[in-house]
Amino acid sequence: MVKSLRGRLLSSYVFVIATVLVITGLALILVVGSPLGNTARLLPTLQNLQTISRASARLLTDQVGAATSREDLATMLDGIAQTEDVRILAFDTNTQTVIYDSQDQWLATSLESFQVNEIQDLNVVNSPLTGAVVAPDNTRWLATSHNLAAREIRRVIVVYMRAQPTFLQFFRVNFLTPLCQAGCAAFLLSILLAWLITRSVSRPLQNMATAAENIASGQFEQHLALDGPEEVKRVARSFNRMSSQVQSTQQSQRDFVANVSHDLKTPLTAIRGWSQAMLDGMVSEPAEQQRAATIINTEAERMQRLVNQLLDLARIESGQLQLANEPIDLAELLGQVHHNLLMRAEEKALYFDLDMEPVPTIWGDHDRLMQVFTNLADNAIKHTPAGGRVQLQLRATPDGDLLAAVRDNGSGIESTELSRIFERFYQVDKARSRPQGAGRSAGLGLAIVRELVEAHGGTITARSRPGAGSEFEVRLPSLRSG
Ligand code: ADP
Repeated sequence: MVKSLRGRLLSSYVFVIATVLVITGLALILVVGSPLGNTARLLPTLQNLQTISRASARLLTDQVGAATSREDLATMLDGIAQTEDVRILAFDTNTQTVIYDSQDQWLATSLESFQVNEIQDLNVVNSPLTGAVVAPDNTRWLATSHNLAAREIRRVIVVYMRAQPTFLQFFRVNFLTPLCQAGCAAFLLSILLAWLITRSVSRPLQNMATAAENIASGQFEQHLALDGPEEVKRVARSFNRMSSQVQSTQQSQRDFVANVSHDLKTPLTAIRGWSQAMLDGMVSEPAEQQRAATIINTEAERMQRLVNQLLDLARIESGQLQLANEPIDLAELLGQVHHNLLMRAEEKALYFDLDMEPVPTIWGDHDRLMQVFTNLADNAIKHTPAGGRVQLQLRATPDGDLLAAVRDNGSGIESTELSRIFERFYQVDKARSRPQGAGRSAGLGLAIVRELVEAHGGTITARSRPGAGSEFEVRLPSLRSG
């Protein structure tokens, strides 16, 4: 079994060439065997014999005179037989026997021993005879003849003969050689083609193999040039996509560890610092002690929130998150979210509206959906300045799904950032998103929101225009399987 691409291509070409040649050969054999092929096989020899016969007749008529003996005639015919490469017989019409044979074999043989078949379907003049002859020794010949016009030897018929080309001889001479030549030319061409094609395919594949090895050894920044045939380009495109995916996974893993460490370290440092100060007796005043305890408590709360969020993500990722499957009135749920956050919105002097249509009941996990919409509404309130508007809207789509949107006319998000806000630890403006104190967040909120929405069989999309506001739209299926 040929292993290399070049070898395979070449052997398939050789196979195709051989098949085409064999089919062509078989078709030719069929054609040659047909009446049409017979004509093609016999006609050239017969025509050639006729030409020789006519020329010889003229020559003999000119040269045979009154005194010409049979020996002279024999000498003349010998000369013609030799120069024209034909066999010549001469028959005496009286005795009906061979009186001359250029090969001296059938002398004195009677005319009846020759079986003469005139060839009717050949476009040749059958006069006085043109046709196929089976000789006494059963050999097959093509023959033409003429009566000697000279008065003196008028009773002689001269016959010019050539061996009838056999089917195989004719095929070999006329077709086998050209077929073999065509086969050789096609073979050489196929070597060239196989070489060109393999070169165009194997070079990019070789590059791909090297790039894959580099990735395996930890060099993740690999980009392949898109050349070669379309199929190879498609593989290279997929490879490039995969390589950037691997890069970004690696990057986010590194970011994840760095972020978790950072977000745990900051509150731990504060807790340690303040508790140490208290132990050292440096915080003696009750008001100062109160302040230290508050900071410690706030930082511990923050750590707890972060750990809970990480646990949530870990549970979702490992498939351990068990969602309740209970009937949910989403309008009521959004009403609760509105109620819980209204105070916060009012503190920030925001308009906080509810705009809801009656919608069908859906199935899901009440607490987790509360978490989703609280998070979205909380973000909207956080990113909308005083006097702005935050709206919760609920609609049913014609196909029965529910669309719950959280809209604000706050700061908005740049389009370059918008595609990343669902990533873990991604924060649009790190400096701004990290106020000191309990409100500090870690950029995990939207990552969890998306996971929870998807766990409910839904989707979440974000639209935003910087300076004009944002809209987060959650689409939930009305019927959830399972
Ligand atoms: P965090 O928990 O730190 O708020 P999120 O995952 O909830 O992180 O949000 C990711 C980023 O998306 C945040 O840094 C925030 O800047 C941005 N963001 C989220 N919601 C809004 C919004 N309604 N308007 C503007 N920016 C938003």
